[in-house]
Amino acid sequence: MSVNIERTPERTARMPSRKRRAALTPLLRTLIAAAAVVMIVLLCALSTKLMPTAQEIVPTAVPSATPEPTPTPVPTITPTPAIYAPFGAQYGFGGEELLPTPDPALTPTPVPTPSPVPTPSPVPVLRKGAKGEQVRQMQEKLIELGYLDGEADGIFGNDTADALMAFQSVNSLTADGVAGKNTFEVINGGQALSMDEAPPTDFLMLVNREYPMDKGQRPSDLVDLEDVIPSSVCKIKYEGTQANETAALALRTMLEAAQADGLDNFQISSAYRTYSEQQRLVDNSAAEYQKNYPDWSRSKCLSATYNTVAPAGTSEHQTGLAFDITVPGVSFTGTEQQKWLHKHCHEYGFVVRFTEEKRKITGFIAESWHFRYVGVEAAQVMVRNDWCLEEYCEHMGLMPEKDEE
Ligand SMILES: [Zn+2]
Repeated sequence: MSVNIERTPERTARMPSRKRRAALTPLLRTLIAAAAVVMIVLLCALSTKLMPTAQEIVPTAVPSATPEPTPTPVPTITPTPAIYAPFGAQYGFGGEELLPTPDPALTPTPVPTPSPVPTPSPVPVLRKGAKGEQVRQMQEKLIELGYLDGEADGIFGNDTADALMAFQSVNSLTADGVAGKNTFEVINGGQALSMDEAPPTDFLMLVNREYPMDKGQRPSDLVDLEDVIPSSVCKIKYEGTQANETAALALRTMLEAAQADGLDNFQISSAYRTYSEQQRLVDNSAAEYQKNYPDWSRSKCLSATYNTVAPAGTSEHQTGLAFDITVPGVSFTGTEQQKWLHKHCHEYGFVVRFTEEKRKITGFIAESWHFRYVGVEAAQVMVRNDWCLEEYCEHMGLMPEKDEE
């Protein structure tokens, strides 16, 4: 617009004579001015027309490559029957019929939310009965850490379960014999405590029906009795029987002393037993009762069993400190061997753990063959005072804290 106005003086400059120019000037100026005004008006009108309106400017949406149909907005207000009630009343019916039937085209199809794909657990859960490479690798770790003897065969049997429970117990894990995330974290973490690092055995450990041991609790220093006691001193009934080393050495000393007094023919019928081994004894005994008394209930069979067999966890054999000493082929009670042992065992750190006299306190019937190692000092005190282990712990302030249920 301004360009045109500026050109006007150039045109007037081309006029031939000054005189003529002077005459024409007023008229020209008027005409030019008028033309300019008209031009301005025209251009303004044109530009207004060409100018995009506000509405046109706003949606500057970049057209997508594949234009998607804009979904028709679903009406937000759904008329309720109440709104149509006046009509219904007028026509003598409820009015529901007057509600607009929803247009299926307007109803948005719900987008199916993708169901989360379950991420496969990278850590296996291994329990008794499992087989394979993962079991084998776990067994190798347990052997390396001193919990399992023998070779890693990839079969998760009783021995592996016992070893795993001991590992879990020493490493403050739930001793359930099932290897899951927490167990694998510790076993593969490089910080696992080995069997040698387990807390030392407490020779005064009290174990009974009131104070049971948990599944994984196991003495820290087990030895094979055959490795500690020569066969010339006594017979080990079952090969591979283990016990706490200190207790086993005391047993050897005691039996050698009995031998020196002219007694021999001793046999060790049982020493250390794992929780699961005790459980198997219970199961076998209950099955025997069931066989002999088919009309007995399971609980009656168990009750009968518990008269003579300690429930798993409540047997002192799980401590590795108890020995069943017998004479092969005869009933032990009344033998010379039994009499000698009952008289002298406390000199070697042992006590006759279950007597008829203390039955009410110990919860077990008399067992003349069951000897428990407690250490010489404690054994002397118990004999002198005629205390059973429960009484000793009570008097010495050694009662363990009960687990709160
Ligand atoms: Zn016993």
